[in-house]
Amino acid sequence: MKWHEMGQTELLNITKTSIDKGLTEKEAGKRLERHGTNELQEGEKTSAVALFFSQFKDFMVLVLLAATLISGFLGEYIDAIAIIAIIFVNGILGFFQERRAERSLEALKELSAPQVAVLREGNWVKIPSKELVPGDVVRFASGDRIGADLRLVETKSLEIEESALTGESLPVSKQADAFQASDVSLGDLKNMAFMGTLVTRGSGIGVVIGTGMNSAMGKIADMLESAGNTATPLQRRLEELGKILIVAALFLTLLVVAAGVIQGHDLYSMFLAGVSLAVAAIPEGLPAIVTVALSLGVQRMIRQKSIVRKLPAVETLGCASIICSDKTGTMTQNKMTVTHVWSGGKIWNVSGIGYEPEGSFSMNGRDVQAKHHKPLQQVLLFGALCNSSSIIEKDGEFRLDGDPTEGALLTAARKAGFTDKYVDEHFKIIEEFPFDSTRKMMSVIVEDKSGKRFVITKGAPDVLMKRSSHTLTEEKREIFTKERLAETSAALETLASQALRTIAVAYKPIKDTENPPLEKAESGLTFIGLLGMIDPPRPEVKTAIKECREAGIKTVMITGDHVITATAIAKDLGLLPPRGKVMDGQMLNELSQEELAEIVDDVYVFARVSPEHKLKIVTAYQENGHIVAMTGDGVNDAPAIKQADIGISMGITGTDVAKEASSLILVDDNFATIKSAIKEGRNIYENIRKFIRYLLASNVGEILVMLFAMLLALPLPLVPIQILWVNLVTDGLPAMALGMDQPEDDVMQRKPRSPKEGVFARGLGWKVVSRGFLIGIATLGAFMFIYNRNPEALEYAQTVAFATLVLAQLIHVFDCRSERSIFDRNPFENIYLLGAVLSSILLMLVVIYYPPLQPIFHTVPILMADWLLIVGMSAIPTFLLAGSLLTRKK
Ligand code: ADP
Ligand code: MG
Repeated sequence: MKWHEMGQTELLNITKTSIDKGLTEKEAGKRLERHGTNELQEGEKTSAVALFFSQFKDFMVLVLLAATLISGFLGEYIDAIAIIAIIFVNGILGFFQERRAERSLEALKELSAPQVAVLREGNWVKIPSKELVPGDVVRFASGDRIGADLRLVETKSLEIEESALTGESLPVSKQADAFQASDVSLGDLKNMAFMGTLVTRGSGIGVVIGTGMNSAMGKIADMLESAGNTATPLQRRLEELGKILIVAALFLTLLVVAAGVIQGHDLYSMFLAGVSLAVAAIPEGLPAIVTVALSLGVQRMIRQKSIVRKLPAVETLGCASIICSDKTGTMTQNKMTVTHVWSGGKIWNVSGIGYEPEGSFSMNGRDVQAKHHKPLQQVLLFGALCNSSSIIEKDGEFRLDGDPTEGALLTAARKAGFTDKYVDEHFKIIEEFPFDSTRKMMSVIVEDKSGKRFVITKGAPDVLMKRSSHTLTEEKREIFTKERLAETSAALETLASQALRTIAVAYKPIKDTENPPLEKAESGLTFIGLLGMIDPPRPEVKTAIKECREAGIKTVMITGDHVITATAIAKDLGLLPPRGKVMDGQMLNELSQEELAEIVDDVYVFARVSPEHKLKIVTAYQENGHIVAMTGDGVNDAPAIKQADIGISMGITGTDVAKEASSLILVDDNFATIKSAIKEGRNIYENIRKFIRYLLASNVGEILVMLFAMLLALPLPLVPIQILWVNLVTDGLPAMALGMDQPEDDVMQRKPRSPKEGVFARGLGWKVVSRGFLIGIATLGAFMFIYNRNPEALEYAQTVAFATLVLAQLIHVFDCRSERSIFDRNPFENIYLLGAVLSSILLMLVVIYYPPLQPIFHTVPILMADWLLIVGMSAIPTFLLAGSLLTRKK
């Protein structure tokens, strides 16, 4: 028998599972072992060995190796072995850097992997979709990606888009009934859902029948196309720059060699010096360090509750000039409580907070019994009936499973005695039209115990008022006259201006057998009443909005909520300046894209908008040259999330579709987390600038000292092995430590960076050249002074030059920590940097003073008195320019 032909009993028998309890954890564990994880096979990975050898395929490194081998054959054993050892250590470092970068990118993928709601041991739990096994009972709703192949057992208006599998882009509607048919194609299997397809509407429950490579998707896709983390703009720019730098370094090296030869140095030693210099001066490690810095930053961001899905977002974050954020749940807590009920001109207050059914009703300050107030009862009961959420009590705690707006309605109804049990006993739901934020309402068709049917609709009051022809006053049904409409509107405004979220309830009796479609059901309604609920702002949001403003970032609130409610909350949050404008969905509809762009810069709140509007809003801001971050959670939000420069989705309430479209996920759905992410994004970029500046200035210094010496007909100020040592130790460790530097105090007081900004923008180029030049001059100065004192002791002078170069770089590294001046920063703040600098100094002293290493590195112990010269000379490059030329006030 085929899957689609089975009745529910057969299905459950064959898959050995239970529809109310699901599998036990033990059984699931066993099946996971038997069937393997629910994953499609991935493409090949580079092996560790291959990655290791790839470290040496660099052209200059190969030349150096060849040159070293030659020098080995010529009898320079010590030099040859030392150089090879250094190249080897360099390769190992590069290997670990790339490994680390790769690992953390993989870890990221894990983190943003989809979760599935599955029934285990009788409870609905969320597990990573790769842990699904055959027999698992899973539940899904609009916006979810189906985790495994399923045979459906329950559906509610379910529609699934299966284009990934069938190529058909229109969603197909699904139902759970078995049917007989041989020779059916995938697209006809209406009672099955397939791994990787997308739920576009409704919800359902199914039993897993195929996982991993045994799923329909696994059968057609042997290999998962890896998403491939695209390079960030900076990485691409650096790649370009790298090519230029290679050419420049080679050119200068050639110049050094040529000058040396002309001045009488022998060709062979100049060749070896030249190649070493080229290896040192070409910043081949830069891309790897950039990746490490990015991924370290990304890990810091995870600790601050944001997950980067696309690496380029890390950089773009620092450029953001507008954040368009959802209100409900992102700026507010999404912990709703009904506080007001209005019906037919009367208003009741409800006490209590949260989802506990503890609370009472009052009217004009006096306590009342709900059972004596028919209209109140009706509003509450209908709010609980037209509801797709539930509240679960466990160990005295009340947990919501579903939408907070609906949770608030359930709780309010319970306070009046309408428990789940009461509702289930007295009413039967015939049909459900789920809520969607474009319609802004939800409806059910209900049958009561006497067999009478009616439609209950709840939703945005202004929308329901338009759909209502009648209203209830004093429990009597009457025409919704102008006066009644005005009265209702006034009540709505009173509630909304107190920042309350509002919901209206309406109903309509229908024939006993009737089952009208959506459009018909939601028209000609009878308006019953309004509910007002509080949704307190998240306490940290106000400060976050202020900090964003100081950072040159404008925060825009986008919500489906009522204009007045939205305005009241925006004012509370300090988001709406006195002259700021509020725009509603209707106005958005009427404006053309160009007209919107013209005024959009003055708008701070968009209310009563549908997800479809978001795309128009993002585009308008972008047309005005802004870099826009946009949040969203539903299926319909995906286009806007994709269009935004930084698409942000919600970790808790977000659908898989929204998450997949986004480049950043907020683990806690919190607006303040966006601010932290932007701050981190800015910091990561600044840190990358810091070590680019450090590395390049160091390299400029190294090349120039050699070049000047050759031009002045001096001996080599540094021997090849020393140059390589500097490249390995002094350039390596401190640069990585700069990548972990703390942000400067004012990162969130600067304007957003322009995305077009080049690597050398904001004075970086000048800093590199000026500091590099001075490092070269200082090193040469120290060398010449000692050499002229005693030209016999060349190795001594070279050791002094070596020490000066190293120290000059290690002092300069502290200057690189600030855009302004070295004096602006506490040098003891970054312990990694302190560690890197101290260990570099230590290693330098070892190389100079440890006798067995002296012949290898051609060093001679330096006399105490000469350290004065060395320290003095090496301080010059940093302190000569610090506090002067470039100490601009921001
Ligand atoms: P937002 O999430 O930005 O607050 P929504 O699109 O969720 O906006 O809601 C818009 C309006 O629809 C709300 O102001 C409320 O009146 C109504 N509404 C929200 N949730 C539901 C629901 N589950 N059922 C019926 N109406 C709802
Ligand atoms: Mg909502």
